[in-house]
Amino acid sequence: MNRYDIVIIGSGMGGLACGTILSKEGMRVCVVEQNAVPGGCLQSFRRNGRMLDTGIHYVGSLREGQVMYQYLKYFGVIDKVRIRLLDPAGFDRIYLDGRMFRYASGFDRFAETLAEDFPGEKEGIRSYCRILQRIGGLIAPEVLRNGRLSAGGMEYLGLSAAATIDSLVTDPLLRRVLAAGSVPLYSGRRDMSPLYHHAMINHSNIEGAACFPDGTQHVADAMCEQIRAHGGELFTHARATRFRLAGSRVSGVETNGGERLLEAKWFISDAPPAQTFGLLEPTPLLRRAFLNRLTILPNTYGFFSIHLLLRPGTVPYTGCNHYFYNTSDVWSARGDFEGYNIPVVLLYPQPAEDGPYAQVITLLVPMLWENVARWTESRSGRRGEDYTAFKQRFADATLRFTERFMPGLRDAAEEIHTSSPLTYRDYTSIPEGAAYGLQKDFNRPLASLVPVRSRIGNLLLTGQNINVHGMLGVTVSAALTCSELVGESYLSKKIGYA
Ligand SMILES: Cc1cc2nc3c(=O)[nH]c(=O)nc-3n(C[C@H](O)[C@H](O)[C@H](O)COP(=O)(O)OP(=O)(O)OC[C@H]3O[C@@H](n4cnc5c(N)ncnc54)[C@H](O)[C@@H]3O)c2cc1C
Repeated sequence: MNRYDIVIIGSGMGGLACGTILSKEGMRVCVVEQNAVPGGCLQSFRRNGRMLDTGIHYVGSLREGQVMYQYLKYFGVIDKVRIRLLDPAGFDRIYLDGRMFRYASGFDRFAETLAEDFPGEKEGIRSYCRILQRIGGLIAPEVLRNGRLSAGGMEYLGLSAAATIDSLVTDPLLRRVLAAGSVPLYSGRRDMSPLYHHAMINHSNIEGAACFPDGTQHVADAMCEQIRAHGGELFTHARATRFRLAGSRVSGVETNGGERLLEAKWFISDAPPAQTFGLLEPTPLLRRAFLNRLTILPNTYGFFSIHLLLRPGTVPYTGCNHYFYNTSDVWSARGDFEGYNIPVVLLYPQPAEDGPYAQVITLLVPMLWENVARWTESRSGRRGEDYTAFKQRFADATLRFTERFMPGLRDAAEEIHTSSPLTYRDYTSIPEGAAYGLQKDFNRPLASLVPVRSRIGNLLLTGQNINVHGMLGVTVSAALTCSELVGESYLSKKIGYA
């Protein structure tokens, strides 16, 4: 039996950020991860000498002095990971209705570039930028230095992203262009998605979109190193299987059915909320209505991923992501291509270590659970031939669609690896392999956010369901979780002045 100040369940960005913060602040931390490799959606895997990222492909606010950069600096990892800014003239390129539109870096340039395509909408585009800056500014480094992790913004959770865009510009194509660069980054829905999430994600990308050319695993590994350097421990192959309750508090967590018992003063869970509470014996402390809500809230969609390992020197690295739309309704997750549901293909290139070429291209296609539901009961590596054939056919169709924009892409690949939302579900335990956890809903803004504190006194939650998902959102949520233990003013100033 081991005793800690904090036991953290799950080593995704949320768990590792909490572990890094609390171990740096002098607490004895232990992180348990069910998988062999820490990182959750930061995990990369190696094929033929190349690192393939499973989840995160690009992240915003990563220029020096911006908020994500500041957090990584405070974590002590900024000098340990390579960051590469994407093309400032167009970090995202959006293909809609036979045309291509660029999202340029920096708000002035972003507005000027779009105004070239929509000269009559200059004012509307400027207003759109001002709203993004107001909302993104709520978590800016200046706010941290003033002793707050966030300067509010709850009112934007109750506003519709689509309706706000529609109110700012009149050209129907521009409305779609302003949505198209981020809708797949939050599984956007016209009838549900809050302005807050749209703005936080687009703001951070416009101010400083970048990738980690050595793979996101390096970020996870650098944080694990920090946790260990500050006296913390991390166990892999350690699945939390049961909480032990003593009165209204958790006294310990068992891993792998009782193999280990880890006792602590506090417990933080980065696992999906329904799974976290499922580790408890039924208790009157948790109301049935609360538990039901966690299971009936809709999930975001998952992704079908295709990793192309490129022959050296075949595809130039352009430093930008491509969004190839196959539907005129960019808010829809449906789009038929040769009988397959392909609403949009997101293309992320990864630069070769040296030279001007890409070494890997990842294609992501939003995939609804209904497309893979017939294999729900199967486990990774044992799903049968019909699943293998489905993946092959889906990958072929996606490549045929993508080659309309990038002819010759298939021939440039020497190896192709695929995965589906089932793969994500099996590795992360996220229900339905949902890419971003629970779907946020402006109609019920508070019902679709999970609070940090639970009715179990010493059990805190973290991760992508707390506030905003994605690397930045989950990092801010981790700070919110940790502020319950070390104080918001103290922690934000430490981060802001790091
Ligand atoms: C395909 C895809 C592409 C994405 N692209 C981007 C992007 O480009 N940029 C971006 O910012 N975000 C992106 N995201 C979103 C981002 O990856 C997530 O929002 C974020 O990484 C979630 O972090 P987390 O810590 O909340 O959860 P996770 O990363 O899921 O971590 C949870 C961890 O808990 C572990 N765990 C669960 N249950 C237990 C248990 N009982 N015991 C022990 N361990 C347990 C899991 O194994 C996992 O390691 C993408 C997501 C996907 C799926």
